Amino acid sequence: MPVEPPPPLQGKQRRIGVMTSGGDAPGMNGAVRAVVRMALAKGCEPYAIYEGYEGLVQGGDMIRAMKWEDVRGWLSEGGTLIGTARCAAFRERPGRLQAAKNMILKGIDALVICGGDGSLTGADLFRSEWPSLMDELVEKKELTEDQVKPFRHLNIVGLVGSIDNDLAGTDATIGAYTSLGVICEAIDKLDSTATSHQRAFVIEVMGRHCGWLALMAGVASGADFVFLPEKPPGENWEEEMSKIVTKHRDEGKRKTMVIVAEGAHDSNLKPITPTIVKDLLANKLKLDTRITTLGHVQRGGEACAYDRMLATQQGAEAVNAVLEATPDTPSPVICIVENKICRRPLMEAVKQTQSVADAIKVKDFEKAMGLRDHEFAEYHNAYITTTSAKLPENLAPVDKRMRVGIIHVGAPAGGMNAASRAAVAYCLARGHTPVALMNGFPGLCRHHADGAVHEINWLEAESWVSKGGSEIGTNRGLPADEACGLEGVAKIFDQYKIQALFMVGGFEAFTAVSQLRKARDYYAALRIPMTVLPATVSNNVPGTEYSLGSDTCLNALIQYCDVMRQSASASRRRVFVVETQGGASGYIATIAGVSIGALAVYTPEKGINLKMLSHDIDFLRQSFSKDKGNSGGGKIILRNEKASETYSTELIADIIREEGKGRFESRHGVPGHFQQGGKPSPMDRMRATRFGFRSMQHLESFAGKSPEEIASDPMSAAVIGIVGAKVKFSPMAKVEAEDTDWKNRRPKNEFWLGLEDLINTLSGRPKPE
Ligand code: ATP
Repeated sequence: MPVEPPPPLQGKQRRIGVMTSGGDAPGMNGAVRAVVRMALAKGCEPYAIYEGYEGLVQGGDMIRAMKWEDVRGWLSEGGTLIGTARCAAFRERPGRLQAAKNMILKGIDALVICGGDGSLTGADLFRSEWPSLMDELVEKKELTEDQVKPFRHLNIVGLVGSIDNDLAGTDATIGAYTSLGVICEAIDKLDSTATSHQRAFVIEVMGRHCGWLALMAGVASGADFVFLPEKPPGENWEEEMSKIVTKHRDEGKRKTMVIVAEGAHDSNLKPITPTIVKDLLANKLKLDTRITTLGHVQRGGEACAYDRMLATQQGAEAVNAVLEATPDTPSPVICIVENKICRRPLMEAVKQTQSVADAIKVKDFEKAMGLRDHEFAEYHNAYITTTSAKLPENLAPVDKRMRVGIIHVGAPAGGMNAASRAAVAYCLARGHTPVALMNGFPGLCRHHADGAVHEINWLEAESWVSKGGSEIGTNRGLPADEACGLEGVAKIFDQYKIQALFMVGGFEAFTAVSQLRKARDYYAALRIPMTVLPATVSNNVPGTEYSLGSDTCLNALIQYCDVMRQSASASRRRVFVVETQGGASGYIATIAGVSIGALAVYTPEKGINLKMLSHDIDFLRQSFSKDKGNSGGGKIILRNEKASETYSTELIADIIREEGKGRFESRHGVPGHFQQGGKPSPMDRMRATRFGFRSMQHLESFAGKSPEEIASDPMSAAVIGIVGAKVKFSPMAKVEAEDTDWKNRRPKNEFWLGLEDLINTLSGRPKPE
């Protein structure tokens, strides 16, 4: 009996197919989970299409309706659980015709595709052909006009799942940061053995047309040289590389790291392979050289926090895009720019991506670099300055060279060292003098005469990029609270001729710059340019949506939660109440909540009350009663350390256990300082380098100006950060007055507040009153 397509759903609701296609990427499962649950929450019917386009072409059981429980625990699974395949049949029209018929037979009228540029090209072609495919199905009597009629408009939404980070228009593709994490971890490990034996390593990383992984691994690991497809080295690259490697060795470096992207070539498109590079290092420079090809381990496995968050937010946004689409809306692809999720026309993004490969083919490398995001060129520039030989033409004029004080204030956070390293590199390249002010303001006040103020040389700073903690020491003490006071700080600045100040740290650093800025009226030595680069796991510094160290913290936290959850996989009915750091800001709790699929988050912004606990216990009862034993482990509630003075983490766990009455139990966990993480995440290292660099450029723009000119310019005391979709400097005076909630030590407007709704939607938690 012929299969009849089901009638379309009521109103705007859709049957949404979701598939993963092309190479697998970490985070794809998180995207599928978000699409499925968001679709259900919006009254739609989600369908998983197994094995990519192959499933669409085969139809039948390869297209399956998905239920809420089907995607439980998927956020922490690597690869793609609904499979992926390269499908030759879909490249041909008959394959696509069959795919269209199969979709209609299931009543599916929207498709969310998570894949690389090939998959998205296929998707766009499918949508553009859709009307003619419908006609052909009727013509060939595969389906009747009546059957086809409700399906005349197909909605397609793209999600970019690819470890290469090669799609134009988005800063990050789902999976890229996890892959970069694997590469950096491998390089960190090779580093130890290379240093021990004074060896050189040539590391091949993925990327046929895209050098993102290679460049960012270079930035995040402080590699000596990188080879990228879109920015090939000059004609005599052998000379160039030898000069740089020799210079680094002469400076005292005991190891050499060279990163080669899979698609690397010279400016004549002659491939540069790891073997060619190895032979050069071994034969010409006489270095004991080994090749490491990372291969498929770069596919990453379990997704890092950022990819889980990205996949979740984008999956949810894809469903919104489906529901908002009209027949005239061009198919969108969901992107992220800095911190903002946005939609772009899919085909434009794919075309621009493909034109990078085309530009490389015709050796127009300038165009290839130009087609990459602006950020890519900025990272490249920062990388080149930190590694290349000092060039006399790069030096600042003698009268514009400054002594730049570098100080860390507050608790340690991942990326503090990398930021300072970038600042040192910039100073040295431009002829400025970087001066370490050790152990924050207490160190400066009490021990400046005992070596706490010293000039930093490159060998000292070179290895800082991958180090956690703070190499120059950090302290929470504020200048006004020290025995020497602001007057003493001014005197010390004067004594050591500090002409610019680069401060890295959290809310205390922000406060310290504020104090110094206000004291400029009294002390001439403080009329110098100052920049604060926010670095704190709490991410509570006004003037930015992102602080260094917060990404490292999130990774540590999801690792902790994954382990907790797994420990419950045998007993199942267990709720973990996990206490996160964050001070009076619920950022870490909330983003971790999105990334692990928490049942609920308790933040200081909302507080905790008895009604809320009772509401959540009811929800727990209800959801455990539905649990048929196929759960991916326990459930997690994240409670920020300052969410309530009364309802402590332990007390909440006790209440839940008591109320569970044996049907479910509860435990509490406090990861504490574990949240500072070990080595900083690649994102924290990269952004540290970029922001450290930018900060130096900003400080340098005041070189040669009079103290009065500096003091009267609001930008001379500034905070650097991400605001919306931009990296920018904001004047401290304005941020302090308008954007700061001083009492709670957090920004007045916290951009992430709306994410709590997403957590609730995806956990099924009814909105508390
Ligand atoms: P990755 O970045 O991991 O390579 P990708 O999505 O670019 O991912 P591809 O192998 O290029 O991977 O594409 C995946 C599938 O998408 C193909 O096997 C094919 O079924 C479909 N596809 C790709 N390009 C086209 C096209 N031009 N027309 C129709 N279908 C296509």
